Amino acid sequence: MSYLNHAHNRIRTIDITFSAAILLLTVMLFLSYYIRAELSESNQLTDHTYEVIMSVDTLSNALLQAESSRRGYILTGNVQQKSRCEFFVQQAMENLKEVKELTVDNPGQQRRLARLGDQITRKLAIFKTSIAQYDKIGFRASLQAQLTEEGTALMTSTRTGLDEIKNQEKALLGQRRNKERTTLLIMTVVFFSGIAIAIILLSLSYYIARHESLSHLIAAGDLQAANRDISDLSSMTQLLQSCSNFEEARGILSCYGEKFFPKASGGIYLINASRTLMTDAATWGAADRKPFTPDQCWAMRLGQAHLSAAASDVKCQHVEMDSVTAHLCIPLAAHHETLGTLHLSFARNGDPEFVEKIRLKSAAFAEQVALAVRSLQMREQLRELSIRDPLTSLLNRRHMEESLLREISRASRTKQPLSVVMLDVDHFKNFNDAFGHEAGDHVLKEVGQLLQKNVRDSDIACRFGGEEFTLILPEADCDIALEICNRIRNSVKELQVVVGRQHVGHVTISAGISVFPSDGDTIQQLLAIADEALYEAKEKGRDRVIASCSSD
Ligand code: GH3
Ligand code: MG
Ligand code: MG
Repeated sequence: MSYLNHAHNRIRTIDITFSAAILLLTVMLFLSYYIRAELSESNQLTDHTYEVIMSVDTLSNALLQAESSRRGYILTGNVQQKSRCEFFVQQAMENLKEVKELTVDNPGQQRRLARLGDQITRKLAIFKTSIAQYDKIGFRASLQAQLTEEGTALMTSTRTGLDEIKNQEKALLGQRRNKERTTLLIMTVVFFSGIAIAIILLSLSYYIARHESLSHLIAAGDLQAANRDISDLSSMTQLLQSCSNFEEARGILSCYGEKFFPKASGGIYLINASRTLMTDAATWGAADRKPFTPDQCWAMRLGQAHLSAAASDVKCQHVEMDSVTAHLCIPLAAHHETLGTLHLSFARNGDPEFVEKIRLKSAAFAEQVALAVRSLQMREQLRELSIRDPLTSLLNRRHMEESLLREISRASRTKQPLSVVMLDVDHFKNFNDAFGHEAGDHVLKEVGQLLQKNVRDSDIACRFGGEEFTLILPEADCDIALEICNRIRNSVKELQVVVGRQHVGHVTISAGISVFPSDGDTIQQLLAIADEALYEAKEKGRDRVIASCSSD
């Protein structure tokens, strides 16, 4: 859920950054168009200013030419000079008009030109007058007129006026250029900043998109791994459920422990019935198989997972103290009962993601293992209940028959003898009558324990029914069986039966032995012969053992 939220947020961020970048690029496109328009307008204005300055220069030049032609004409009387003067006068008039038209949008220049226009008109009028006078009265008078103070002063003020207009245009040009430069600078800064921001935004969306696809790939990988884990867990559970005993389960647990935690050594340690010792049910990797007490494991003490990932973290006492190993213990609990602990040791690599993964995985593994172990234990308990006699804890008759069949076939395979003993408490009815049924039960329990104590692990002691017992003694011939039975008979005789605080007398037993293959090779034959021998022992006075090899 949180992964989806994160993915949504990242996609929204990509949308925002990408849209912002596109918007910014569009704005920059318009801005570049605007800059181009601005520059073109500014160029037009500059061209216009140059045009004004050139027109002023042309006007000034026409005035100068008119002046010099007039002088030439007056001094030389050359008619060409006269027509030249008239031409430049005409041109000056046209130039003046042109300058006025060019500066029509500039009221200051218009004012100056109005003043200057008057002076130029007057000056041109003086030119015309002086030429007319020359033509009428000759050189001297016209020279006089030409040198009048007004003519000279007019020319000077006209030049000053023209310069003023030119300077004004130059100042305007300067101002425009400054404005143009500033505008261009601002536009350039804005343009390039915009482009830079757009590039950053695009890079950011690319980075987030890339990161997102990588995360997606990783998430897909994680999902695949999780699916694999779930399927492994399910097949492990299936296999464990099909185990008929705990021995089979050990191999499965080790195999799946290794499969699940390839980078960690570990083990499943189960607590014993008296809850004093933890022993390994399965281990993998370089895990320690030494038993330990529940107190040595923090997970067992606290009833919750204990992780020691950093050097400063507290370690469980059952874990070897070194500076490079991290460990994790998880209690195995099922049906409100703590069955043991799952222990994992792995190299301390400082990668929190690895630790988190192993923590989650081990919690799921521990849960399944605990349920499977509990179910196995319950099945074993049920099986035990079905094959054991509740009073004496010896195997019951049904199981004895199964075992006897198995042992007969084994003995015939290995060509070894096998003895079967039928054993019965003497005058037990009397004992019950004398001391009560409870005391009788007590005796049966004690006899059961004695039987168990006096035979080997490979021998099988059963309660046949009532106060009768059966022993199956693989590899024991008649002499050995006789010896064992007499040892048991003596032990029973020495039994101090105490009920409450009261000594309740002694009991004796009688026994009959049959031996495979000499007495028979079927259950029925062997049991019948042993029973006959027992009957004989009873007949002969009880507290004795009868076999084919006995001297009685
Ligand atoms: P014998 O020496 O011939 O075997 O004599 P017996 O009295 O032992 O034999 P009998 O078969 O006459 O009596 C068996 C008695 O065992 C009868 C019954 O009260 C007692 N018995 C059988 N099962 C139990 C049991 O579970 N608890 C107790 N207390 N007594 C039992
Ligand atoms: Mg009996
Ligand atoms: Mg009896």
